[in-house]
Amino acid sequence: MVITAGATRFVSDVHLRPERPDITERFSRFLVDCIEKRIAALFILGDLFEYWIGDDNLDDTFNALVASKLRKVSDAGVKLFFLHGNRDFLIGAAFAAATGAHLLPEVAVLGLHPLSVGADGTPPDAGTAASAPILLLHGDTLCTDDRAYQDFRRQVRKPEWQQGFLTQSLPDRQNEVNLLRQRSTEAVRQKSAEIMDVNAGAVRRLCAEYHCRILIHGHTHRPGCELLDTDPPCERWVLSDWEHDRGDALETHGQKIRRLDWSQ
Ligand code: MN
Repeated sequence: MVITAGATRFVSDVHLRPERPDITERFSRFLVDCIEKRIAALFILGDLFEYWIGDDNLDDTFNALVASKLRKVSDAGVKLFFLHGNRDFLIGAAFAAATGAHLLPEVAVLGLHPLSVGADGTPPDAGTAASAPILLLHGDTLCTDDRAYQDFRRQVRKPEWQQGFLTQSLPDRQNEVNLLRQRSTEAVRQKSAEIMDVNAGAVRRLCAEYHCRILIHGHTHRPGCELLDTDPPCERWVLSDWEHDRGDALETHGQKIRRLDWSQ
């Protein structure tokens, strides 16, 4: 799929939840802005929702509202892509159908010349120098120092775990997720800042594997940009999360990337 005309935007970690209508309202304005500015494609790099207990909960008032806003974006001609975060990894085909979003694999590769994405997340012209790949991922897989989290991730990504979870009733799933969120908040409080950031070696290995020029991820809630002295050199862009005083997006302009402030 070639995405040529217009700019492309990337956003991550919006953590939408019914308790925070202010964030939902700000994100809605961002979506309308994507339509008005005729953005070619919007990539959501995970944790769009604070939690997602299954696509069979799409009828929930809040979820239906968000899905309808995303639908307007794809109906307006903005190509919509979604990549799973650690909180909404259960988003599936029904959500994609409802919103018009294309689901991407864990690591998605974008070609830059022209901006393009293959069905399996690899660019049609992968491997050529002209493709100058942009690598997209949520970012949690780079936090390899957080062993406890990586163990948890391996468990919940197993099909057996997911089948077991999804066969429970919606209220039971909601209760389990509430417990997990509580435990996660406590665990995060006890972990050091270094453990919860990306591992530099993991980043370099990923860049080497894909020969990427640009790496874009979220998850760590540490917005920034660094130039890595990899071969080829790679710009690592980190998106912020959306909270009461912060929220951003990245936008491509030709081969350049700039950060958009959506904190207000
Ligand atoms: Mn995350």
